[in-house]
Amino acid sequence: MTQVMYKSLGRGGKPVARQFSYKVLGIFDVEDVLPYITEKVAVNYIIDGTTWVVTMGSDRLRCLQRGPRCLCCGLEGIQFQLELPPSDRRPHFNLYGMDTDGDLVMLTKDHIIPRSRGGGNQPSNLQTLCCICNEKKRDLLVSIEELREILENDLT
Ligand SMILES: [Zn+2]
Repeated sequence: MTQVMYKSLGRGGKPVARQFSYKVLGIFDVEDVLPYITEKVAVNYIIDGTTWVVTMGSDRLRCLQRGPRCLCCGLEGIQFQLELPPSDRRPHFNLYGMDTDGDLVMLTKDHIIPRSRGGGNQPSNLQTLCCICNEKKRDLLVSIEELREILENDLT
């Protein structure tokens, strides 16, 4: 089982690299995955003789397709990993950028109006944020400008 290492927010609001126990079935260039993200389509990936059915039409993937970079800090997605969570038979793609320390940072789907405040899954309410910016935003109702200010104040 390969471990996935990526950064997220640790105690005290500082980013730390952590290990997650996903099995990485494959690593793909961004341009080899983005074109296949289509509504309600599953793609078969054959890796080492095993066929994996991967759903390509999720709200999350379509959000990453529209904007494969963090809207707040600008972190660019550089690779997709096809990951199989423990005790799961359906792998899914995660998109990662790389920070200045060389650590992977996951790109995530953020609800502009948080779900806890009634925001929905429609494309106009979704934006791409890296997991660090997203964890900082939590369920705040803030603009990207305001989120940048929160991050700057925390890191200085
Ligand atoms: Zn970010």
